[in-house]
Amino acid sequence: MQQIQYKIKERTSQVNLPETLGFGKLFTDHLFEMDYTPEKGWHNPSIQPVDGLLMHPATMFIHYGQAVFEGMKAFKQENGDVVTFRADKHIERLNNSSRRICIPEVDKDFVLDALKELINIERDWIPAKRGESLYIRPFIYGTDPFLGVRPAKNYKLIILLSPVGAYYPEGFKPVKILVTDEYVRAVRKGLGECKTPANYAASLLAGEDAVKKGFTQVLWLDGVEQKYVEEVGTMNIFIQLKDEIVTPKLNGSILPGITRRTVIELLKEWNMNIAEREITIDEVTDAYDKGNLVGVFGTGTAAIISSVGWLQYKDKQMTLNDGKAGELDIKLFDEITSIHYGLKEDTHNWIIPVEQKETVS
Ligand SMILES: *Cc1c(COP(=O)(O)O)cnc(C)c1O
Repeated sequence: MQQIQYKIKERTSQVNLPETLGFGKLFTDHLFEMDYTPEKGWHNPSIQPVDGLLMHPATMFIHYGQAVFEGMKAFKQENGDVVTFRADKHIERLNNSSRRICIPEVDKDFVLDALKELINIERDWIPAKRGESLYIRPFIYGTDPFLGVRPAKNYKLIILLSPVGAYYPEGFKPVKILVTDEYVRAVRKGLGECKTPANYAASLLAGEDAVKKGFTQVLWLDGVEQKYVEEVGTMNIFIQLKDEIVTPKLNGSILPGITRRTVIELLKEWNMNIAEREITIDEVTDAYDKGNLVGVFGTGTAAIISSVGWLQYKDKQMTLNDGKAGELDIKLFDEITSIHYGLKEDTHNWIIPVEQKETVS
């Protein structure tokens, strides 16, 4: 296996994290970087100081969007141990996304080891309060300076680290969601199941529109008929009915969330009736009218669980659980975050420890 080159900054003072961290504004000192060429494959792995990227204005991904990314987290547990949550699954998904848009896959084990090395070097940057974490952003993009349309021949992988604050600094707060049939995020057989910038570009205007109308985010319907429920904002969606919990089955246009998978596994373990199936927006409004709609929540790495308190579809306004977070939502949030911080035993092998060691630089 290849040797990582280390260019480590002399740390002149202790890392001082600000009181409020927010999301994605602050970055650690170092990143991991690796290059791909057709001749050498993935090579040149290095851990080096975060610096600006110098690139040719014709760099392919800027023009044609050939890029993929991931979002995962590392936590500092009560006893000081540093762990990641299901990082192996995230790297697997990075490769799945890559395959769909002609980006060469990485060696999963090598990238996981490199990630651990980087986190180990930056462990002083990991905030320790409950809810806080180190957000991990791996991404790959095509680097050829070329304006023709074809897959790039050369790529760069970067892993960037950002200490982030609690998603709910003022407690678990339900959100207000607008069901959009005016815009779609993705279509089956398109890019919906890849974590790629194009999907985010497609979603921005609908999100802005919803915010202007006083909502937090949109609920996405399917791209063909605008009939089936797909996702909420940048999260997967769960609909709790009286006798069944439903999450849309993965159909190619839905992002296969790791939190979605975690929640499904927990619900099964708790002997709850969880179904991965198609669900129409009409079934949701019918359930609401009949008093069978217990609640709706989103799942994703950033929020873990996000309760929907209010839902609007066309002229129909629905208040869920009096606009309060549901019992199940809170139970899932507590269970998953307790495992993150080592307050509950991880019986699923979801936690991947980052061993503390001296780095040879
Ligand atoms: C990342 C993402 C999710 C959530 O995935 P997690 O692995 O749970 O973080 C859901 N939907 C979309 C569109 C996403 O980009």
